[in-house]
Order: sequence, then structure tokens, then C-alpha cells
Amino acid sequence: MISEVEKKDFYQALIHKDPCYEGIFYVGVRSTGIFCRPTCSARKPKVENCEFFKTAEEALLASYRPCLRCRPLSHPNLVSPLVQLLVNAVEKEPEKHWREADFDQLAVDASTARRHFKKRFGMTFVQYARARRMGLAFQKIRSGDLVINAQLDCGYESSSGFRDAFSKIMGAPPTKKNAQLTLVRAHWFDTKIGPMLAIGDEKAIHLLEFSGRRGLESEIKELRHKLHSAIVPGITEPIQLLAREIQLYFEGTLREFTTPLYMSGTPFQQEVWKGLQSIPYGETRSYKEQACSLQKPLAHRAVANANGRNKIAIIIPCHRVVRSNGDLGGYGGGINRKQWLIDHEKNNILEER
Ligand SMILES: [Zn+2]
Repeated sequence: MISEVEKKDFYQALIHKDPCYEGIFYVGVRSTGIFCRPTCSARKPKVENCEFFKTAEEALLASYRPCLRCRPLSHPNLVSPLVQLLVNAVEKEPEKHWREADFDQLAVDASTARRHFKKRFGMTFVQYARARRMGLAFQKIRSGDLVINAQLDCGYESSSGFRDAFSKIMGAPPTKKNAQLTLVRAHWFDTKIGPMLAIGDEKAIHLLEFSGRRGLESEIKELRHKLHSAIVPGITEPIQLLAREIQLYFEGTLREFTTPLYMSGTPFQQEVWKGLQSIPYGETRSYKEQACSLQKPLAHRAVANANGRNKIAIIIPCHRVVRSNGDLGGYGGGINRKQWLIDHEKNNILEER
């Protein structure tokens, strides 16, 4: 969610290595796959190769690796050896599913580590490791193998990490033996409020989520197991249609989607999701109203849970459900995005009047 004006401002700050911008933004460099702090001493990238982020987590999820020179994951004046130790451990095995218990093996006290990490980057070590792992898996979907090979040429040693991170989350691509299996494809596209991941086959869409969505990794794994299929980077017809429709939605010119969807869930979940699709563009409902319209006035908690299990963001508009007191309630893609989507739709309706 970085405006064009901010981008220009950030780029000037980057060129001038302005220390006032420390902690305000991070810059990902597309040609190298590395992200830096504003004051990095490395040669400055061309503006068209820059991607700006407000948090380190977003940069990691967008597949960038922390720069070895400016160490964007350490405080500029106080490089915590503990934090560095943990970051290095993750870089050695980025595909690993790091857990709290791993601290013991690194001879690090878990609660100290959590405090240090949280204080510096606003995320825990386990969150950091997850963002890095997911980022590596997304990288293949984002840019294909070319960029990965380029990075390996730049001297990153963990080549197996790059491959493993992808297949651990997306499944190993089929061998020749079972190549006749239908493949499920994953595609990545950017929106005004952050990148989205789409998963679909030749018939319909299975998943559409913001890349930083809570629980995305388990959603993908669940989907993979249900479909008995690996997920490989690529585009199918429904994904192509989806990308076009999402673009028009963000431009404010599309309200009703025609992209075919698979809504796989329990009968109750399916009912809830169909109900969501009947909330008109630009309007909101409370969880209670939603439950009432399903003739289940007492089930608003169960309804809220089913909303949370929705795997097709925006098109199944769970963002249109808020608390009855006006609070936004939860949103897997983050509360700021929910607010943005609600405002976006309301503004478009107003403009029309
Ligand atoms: Zn740097």
C-alpha cells in the first residue's frame, strides 16, 4: 500500500542514503532479489528495479533475501549477535519448518529471542522464518526459474533451499511416470494493496489470497492433499480471467465476477459462502445479520468461522462482514486491507450517484 508519491519520495531517500528513513521503508531490488535498508552502501538500483515495502516481513514474503551488507534485519547501530545467529540459521536451511523447539538446538533462549526479534522487526523469529520460507516458495511462482538461477550465480550457496522451499509447500512436481495427472497452477499478481496468489486448474479457481495471509501455508497444503496434486507455477484460462477481473475490480470498474470457482468446504461453509456472495458491492452486513439471512440467528460465531475459512478473497466477499458495533472484525489478509476494500467499494458507489 505504497502510493506513487511515496515511491518517488522513497527513491530520493534511497539515492541520498537518508538516515531519517531508517525503519520507514525497505527496498527490494528486482534484479538481484535482495532487500536493503535505505542507507545501504551498495550501488543504488535503477528506479524501475525497486520495489518498496514498509515492513521487513512484506519484503521477505515478496521473495527478497536480506542484504549481507546493510543487514536490514538488524538495528543499524546495534547488530544483535543473537538476531544475526538466528537469521543465519534460517538462511542455511530456509526451507525448514522452524519451530520454537529449534531454539534449544541453537542454544538460544526462546523468550529472549522472541523479545529481540519482536522489538527489532515487529515479528517473531518463527514468523520471520515462515515469511522467508513462503517468500522462497512464491519466488518461483513470481518470476520462474530464471531469477533463481541468477541468484545462484550471485553466490548464494543454498541452492537446495531454493528448490526445497517451493516443493515443501507446493508439492514436488510430477515425474514422467505420473505426468498425466492434471496439474494445478499457481500464479502471482500485484494489486494496489499487495500481491495476491491465485491457484486454479483448467476449469476453475481454488484459491485467491493475499500473500501475507495468516494460515496461507496450511491452506495450500490442505488444498494440495485434497486434490492429490502438486501445484506448479503457471496460468490456466480461469486464472487469466481472474487476473483480468481483479485488475478491473481494483480500477473500480468491475463489481460482479464471472470467474468460475470451486467452493470446497462442508455443506454449512458452502451455504455461508454463497450467502456472502449475495451481499451487494459497496454494502456491509454484521455477522448477526449474515446469520439471520441464513435462517440461523444463533449461529453467528459459526458463521464468522466459516467466513474465516473462505479461500477465495474478494470474489467471495468476506470483507463485507463487520461487527454490529461498527468494528471491522477479523480479516485473514489483514485489517488494513479489509478497510481499504470496504472504502474502495463505497467510494465507487458514491461516485456513481
Ligand atoms: Zn543492502
